[in-house]
Amino acid sequence: VRTEVKYVYRFDEGSAAMVSLLGGKGANLAEMKRLGFPVPNGFIISTEACRAYMKEGPQWLDSLWPAVVEHMHFLERATGKTFGGRENPLLVSVRSGAPISMPGMMDTILNLGLNDETTEALAEISKDLRFAYDCYRRFIQMFADVVLGIELDLFEGVLSEVKQKLNVKYDYEIPADVLRDVVDQFKNIVRSKIDQAFPQDPWIQLKMAIEAVFKSWNNKRAITYRRISNIPDDLGTAVTVMEMVFGNLGEDCGTGVVFTRNPSTGEKELFGEFLVNAQGEDVVAGIRTPQPIALLRETNPKVYGELLKVAESLERHFRDMQDIEFTVERGKLYILQTRSGKRSAKAAVRIASEMVAEGIIDERTAVSRVTPKEVEQLLHRQIDPSVQISPIATGIAASPGAAVGKVVFDVDEAEERGKNGESIILVRPETTPEDIHGLSMAAGLLTSRGGQTSHAALVARSLGIPCVVGCEAVNIDFANEAFTVGEVAVKKDDVITIDGTSGNVYLGAVPLVDPSLREKNLTNLLGMADKFARLQVWANCDTPSEARQARELGAKGIGLCRTEHMFREANRLLIMQQVIVADSKDERLHALEKLVTLQKGDFLEIFKVMAGLPVVIRLLDPPLNEFLPKEQDVTKKLFQLRSNGGSEGEIKRLEALLRRIEALKENNPMLGFRGCRIGVLYPEIYEAQVRAIVEAACELMMQGVDVNVKIMVPLVATGQEMCMLRSNIEKVATATAGKYGVNLPCKVGTMIELPRAAIVADEIAEYADFFSFGTNDLTQTTLGVSRDDAEGKFLAAYVRLGIYMEDPFHSLDRKGVGTLMKMAVERGKGTNKDLELGICGEHGGDPSSIAFCHSIGLDYVSCSAMRVPVARLSAAHAAL
Ligand code: ADP
Ligand code: MG
Ligand code: MG
Repeated sequence: VRTEVKYVYRFDEGSAAMVSLLGGKGANLAEMKRLGFPVPNGFIISTEACRAYMKEGPQWLDSLWPAVVEHMHFLERATGKTFGGRENPLLVSVRSGAPISMPGMMDTILNLGLNDETTEALAEISKDLRFAYDCYRRFIQMFADVVLGIELDLFEGVLSEVKQKLNVKYDYEIPADVLRDVVDQFKNIVRSKIDQAFPQDPWIQLKMAIEAVFKSWNNKRAITYRRISNIPDDLGTAVTVMEMVFGNLGEDCGTGVVFTRNPSTGEKELFGEFLVNAQGEDVVAGIRTPQPIALLRETNPKVYGELLKVAESLERHFRDMQDIEFTVERGKLYILQTRSGKRSAKAAVRIASEMVAEGIIDERTAVSRVTPKEVEQLLHRQIDPSVQISPIATGIAASPGAAVGKVVFDVDEAEERGKNGESIILVRPETTPEDIHGLSMAAGLLTSRGGQTSHAALVARSLGIPCVVGCEAVNIDFANEAFTVGEVAVKKDDVITIDGTSGNVYLGAVPLVDPSLREKNLTNLLGMADKFARLQVWANCDTPSEARQARELGAKGIGLCRTEHMFREANRLLIMQQVIVADSKDERLHALEKLVTLQKGDFLEIFKVMAGLPVVIRLLDPPLNEFLPKEQDVTKKLFQLRSNGGSEGEIKRLEALLRRIEALKENNPMLGFRGCRIGVLYPEIYEAQVRAIVEAACELMMQGVDVNVKIMVPLVATGQEMCMLRSNIEKVATATAGKYGVNLPCKVGTMIELPRAAIVADEIAEYADFFSFGTNDLTQTTLGVSRDDAEGKFLAAYVRLGIYMEDPFHSLDRKGVGTLMKMAVERGKGTNKDLELGICGEHGGDPSSIAFCHSIGLDYVSCSAMRVPVARLSAAHAAL
């Protein structure tokens, strides 16, 4: 039965749509071939075959084999060459390629089909002995590494020794006869390691290579990469077998990588690098620092022109920025791979926005292409432009944003210390896919070699880590764990600053600033996002300046204005203390009067900034003792006053204060005398606050300024509380507005932050115009977890152990807290179908929690001003 399944596809049988079967690389090669792009011939073994191999084991290859042989014969006919032939030998590459791009994570083998005889044949037909032996030694090296598992260092050792003897720097300077020697030495290494000769039969080579590529799906770095990128483990890789073309045949040959747009900035330009007289992996490995692609325009305008045209049409065809591998063999251009290019967050936003303008994609596609995480990365900090400081070195700016951290040279150490929360700058000559675990934990990355398309640059961009590459002035001395730049020496643990936007490296910690969030492409993209979103995005703001920032970032209202923050300023705190220690109601009212005047001023400003957008003001919430000084401080002061004969009045005041502190002491303030409980027992406090709000609103309305006030009561647990408080609030509001002769529409609502409130939401909704889920407290009270006590102690362990999948304070606990929210929505709406629904906990800025809020039908989310852009995009994604 198995043999009837089709496991192998010629390029002309595939297409881009077949990506899950043929892998990204294979499917796009097929697509390009179909469209007539200059792609060498080949075929693809499907991911299904890989999955079957993993399931059935090595013998299964035998049942696959006839189809492979048949396709090799097809390739022979198509190329006019013979596999293992002594005249015109066919050489192939055997390439891995998963359905989701995992650049450099799995293995690829080039120049397969070479042996002692075919190498001579290749020399004859190319008329280049040096070239043939260069291919052969590369092949042995790669095959030994990937298939036989022999350490690469052994081969690199031989090469460097040879180069040293010849006193040359680069591989391509080694002459043919020496290379022949190198090949012999390589073969000896293999023999000593596996007790067998290097396999000479190309068919055996092919079988071993295909098997190795299948197996590379489960190598350590691929597994790590999948974990970091959330790629499922059961997809498998396809194997592409294709005719070799040669970039290492001389000066009119080369190989390179181009992006159709700049992957750092998003600018529309052909961007990339190439190496003359080199083979594919030389560019990516960062061994030689390649030349910018613009130079090709001068050295080979014809090829450059073709490349430009190919790039343009590939981008139009795939409707996305492309990352293209190419090789030039004796002046002829070949395309070896194309895929959607990885890009920085900044580039992602610019490309999405500009491609809409260019008519390449529609707005929906543009919005869906940028992730909330990328918008978040744009909040990355940059070097404070007002600081005058010179860099110690400048490399290539490879991933934007600035990072300050301690220098570490060892990848494992970077992982370890990064995990523990240290800010680490990893400094390496170059990086390889094996280093991924350390890179992902570093705050920044600095390499002395490699270019824009080197591994380090690629990974840093996709992880959003600031990165500078190719900083050749940096001389690393691993033995002493230090690097030097000219006269400057930097040791391990010294602090440096790198700027992945400019490529600069600085000594010490340079001050950083928040980036501009009003950049036009981001504004443009978020404008598109708003068209798709159903949820509005409001912000949590306590001050006029926060309100101003929130509006600039596109907030459509204030979902939480916490009045108590207005009391914390020193002179206001004193008045607040007078309110609390007052012996009589009269005394308290007198102190409150002063507060009203002060608060009114704040509200006036905030309402003015918001100009008619909704402003939800929460009445006093925290326990009163938060406004009182520490007991021991008062005691100490009293003692001093008494022993120094201080003033009677002051002593009396402090004694009263001390009594209040005693009386208000609580074992568990979070569940104590706070929230609306204060409003119930000291109605005059809430009444004063309402007066301040309404007076401010009325004064502005009389000036013709639009005001939309909503008054919110915290920590309600019963319908009765809400009934009492609402009637008080309305009485005061009406009376106050009456004095101005203004008709002020003023909604009154509550936070839902106690499980009981969610359960009796139907009762509460009788007296509430709106609910705002206070999910910080609701999470604490539902889980029975005090956030301040839990986070450093058991919560992290709980997440590690999988008891909670994520920190419930970062990402909403849908099963528990979420169910209560849903219940409150349903019951509340049952009573009051016009009930307005929002969330004002920190979850309001978390993409996954926002998606949940969308799904249960909330009207808005409210988050900190800085997160408004992230929330706007998330709200759109939830609705797409
Ligand atoms: P990776 O997924 O690591 O990029 P690839 O399969 O793309 O691995 O191959 C690695 C390098 O080898 C690339 O630069 C590619 O262009 C080059 N290469 C692959 N196949 C061929 C071929 N048939 N002829 C010439 N170069 C090739
Ligand atoms: Mg590739
Ligand atoms: Mg609360």
